[in-house]
Amino acid sequence: MLVLGIESSCDETGIALYDTEAGLLAHQIHSQIAMHTEYGGVVPELASRDHIRRALPLTSACLAESGKTLADIDAVAYTAGPGLAGALLVGASVANALAFSLGKPVVAIHHLEGHLLSPLLADPAPQFPFIALLVSGGHTQLMAVRGIGQYEILGETVDDAAGEAFDKSAKLLGLGYPGGPALSKLAELGDAKRFNLPRPMLHSSNLDFSFSGLKTAVLQLVSKQDELDVQTQADICAAFQEAVVEVLSKKCLAALKQTGMNRLVIAGGVGANKQLRAGLDAAAKKRRFEVFYPPLELCTDNGAMIAFAGAQRLKFATPAGSYAVQPRWDLSSLPAV
Ligand code: ATP
Ligand code: MG
Ligand code: FE
Repeated sequence: MLVLGIESSCDETGIALYDTEAGLLAHQIHSQIAMHTEYGGVVPELASRDHIRRALPLTSACLAESGKTLADIDAVAYTAGPGLAGALLVGASVANALAFSLGKPVVAIHHLEGHLLSPLLADPAPQFPFIALLVSGGHTQLMAVRGIGQYEILGETVDDAAGEAFDKSAKLLGLGYPGGPALSKLAELGDAKRFNLPRPMLHSSNLDFSFSGLKTAVLQLVSKQDELDVQTQADICAAFQEAVVEVLSKKCLAALKQTGMNRLVIAGGVGANKQLRAGLDAAAKKRRFEVFYPPLELCTDNGAMIAFAGAQRLKFATPAGSYAVQPRWDLSSLPAV
């Protein structure tokens, strides 16, 4: 079965073709980052309009890349939420119009399930059950995953998401938007020991996180400097990154211990972070658990994860034509497959 996947929940238009036999055949992404940069964040109306411009050309590009035609598509999966309502509606409309014209069904996909299952697109792929750390721009959650649609939340952030903390701290350091990757790059040149930043909730007895205090600590550090030279910037980046990575890693280990599981899966944009990967890889060797990541280019938003999730949920496909989006949508409300 050939599934077309459409992602448009925020500022990336992602389109992909996933075949249940042959795997991922093609994926195309257009990022709107450059368009939103001058506003310092995503402008929802501009995002929606750009998804309209990009969706069909990217679909054509995927078909060309895979040597398939529209007639080969068996179902269309799209991100139905959570995300920006207008942006979601573009993807949902394109998906339903296309599927309706082809006489094929649609599958409404939860964006976070897409992220969560993206490590299954890597080789080797993890077996169920596993602990998943979902670390994206909008979410930081630890979950026990026992199968598709069987997601038990073990802990989550009580305020900012990890990616959000990266982006906000990067902004305070003048590194642009979204600054997570830039902050991480600059951190490589820094000395993490020069400044001491807090490890929020490191020793809390639960698996929750908090990152807004860390961002405030960066703000205080930045405003205390007479001059923010590049070395100081890099040292703050390194201290910040070390604090985030330490908290994320320790909580992953605690979740493994608490559940007795021995597989850890990382998903979402912050999963691209080199220091986080290095730290977890080292811990996995030492403590004999396995750790899995999505392919690097599939950490942030993309259509491949939506096409893949759609392929897992084909039994929930519905006739195309009538649809709604869910800007807020609880992951644990999904039916098990
Ligand atoms: P959500 O999926 O929760 O709705 P989102 O789709 O915006 O949010 P993603 O696309 O998964 O989130 O990830 C984007 C986030 O990942 C941004 O906050 C970005 O700064 C962060 N990020 C990407 N690469 C890195 C990196 N190498 N190091 C740290 N953070 C990173
Ligand atoms: Mg994005
Ligand atoms: Fe996302």
